[in-house]
Amino acid sequence: MKTIDNYDFKGKKVLVRVDFNVPLDENLEITDDTRIRATIPTIQKLRKEGAAVILMSHLGRPKNGPEDKFSLRHVVKNLSGKLGTEVQFADDCIGAQAREKAAALKQGEVLLLENLRFYKEETAGDVAFARKLSQLADVYVNDAFGTAHRAHASTAVIAQFFPDAKMFGYVMGNELKSINKVLKEGEKPFTAILGGAKVSGKIEIINNLLDKVDNLIIGGGMMFTFIKAKGGQVGNSLVEDDLIATASAAMEKAESLGVNLYIPQDAVIADKFDNDANQKCRPSNEIPEGWMGLDIGVEASETFRKVIENSSTILWNGPMGVFEMDNFAEGTLDVAQAIARATAKGAFSLVGGGDSVAAVNKYHLQDKVSYVSTGGGAMLEYIEGKTLPGVAAIEE
Ligand code: AMP
Repeated sequence: MKTIDNYDFKGKKVLVRVDFNVPLDENLEITDDTRIRATIPTIQKLRKEGAAVILMSHLGRPKNGPEDKFSLRHVVKNLSGKLGTEVQFADDCIGAQAREKAAALKQGEVLLLENLRFYKEETAGDVAFARKLSQLADVYVNDAFGTAHRAHASTAVIAQFFPDAKMFGYVMGNELKSINKVLKEGEKPFTAILGGAKVSGKIEIINNLLDKVDNLIIGGGMMFTFIKAKGGQVGNSLVEDDLIATASAAMEKAESLGVNLYIPQDAVIADKFDNDANQKCRPSNEIPEGWMGLDIGVEASETFRKVIENSSTILWNGPMGVFEMDNFAEGTLDVAQAIARATAKGAFSLVGGGDSVAAVNKYHLQDKVSYVSTGGGAMLEYIEGKTLPGVAAIEE
């Protein structure tokens, strides 16, 4: 893998695509700086090696050019504090000021460019725009895994201007290493746990994972499409009727490949979509009309716990129930704790995708799993088996 570990940066201008797409409140204060923190080791390594570091990122979804609420100026103070140095700022990511500031930047200094998405050329993957960015530096580093699935100017197109000087930063490198460790080099038994609301967003993942895993656990709202496909009564639970045939095909594929497919035998059902609804635990294929399944049941939890604790490689995406409501969070908590216990016994566990990451954080288990992916959409596309443009552009 082409990483920043094997390059002589002394005296070089290094352009780093980072992901500083952080949430800001109404006072334009950062409410969660995880993404900034994640990039610090890459930036510090480059500075220590004698590079002048130029950072570029997007922030939010500006529609028509510059807008203060999307300005990267709002991250300068936080970033300067973390790096222990005053970060310079250019009001525009291209143009005379950016060129002058980049040219004057000395070894160990850091310059942050204004939001790339103030130019529609960024998301359009415009080559001329990418060329202008590339002219600021000698070396290109991509450390924005969260946008690696986009063929944007700064994430993919720009790499062609650095044929011998393009590489992954530590965020990208670690994400790729962890996901590859699971998908390509995972020790058996390999268990994938998929949850979340719908089958529709996950069907390609299911199909790709069935070729790789020993056990596939399905929970969350998506379980009911599978249960209905097997002829069960799911009451008012979330079901995608147009995907019943797809769910049946996945079950047949699992059977023919010898993959153990676990669909919850019981569910916590409720008489409305509300934390204070009446609730009870029932076989998941006998849910009466007027009731809906909002979590996996106690027996399913116990079955899943055993499978997870006997696994050597674990991939988890998506909650087991409506875990935002405390009365329907038990299944998700049980799975998270089982993954933590398996990890303590030596398994490699990767948690990815917004809501399972939120669950792991909510239960303070982020340090008890092997790796928490920050990639969201990029990670999901990678486990679907797709080539990520941001990765391919460096590897080509
Ligand atoms: P996704 O974005 O597809 O991963 O879905 C995450 C969402 O699925 C969370 O907000 C959960 O509340 C929701 N979810 C999980 N289980 C269920 C369920 N049984 N019924 C409805 N929504 C669910």
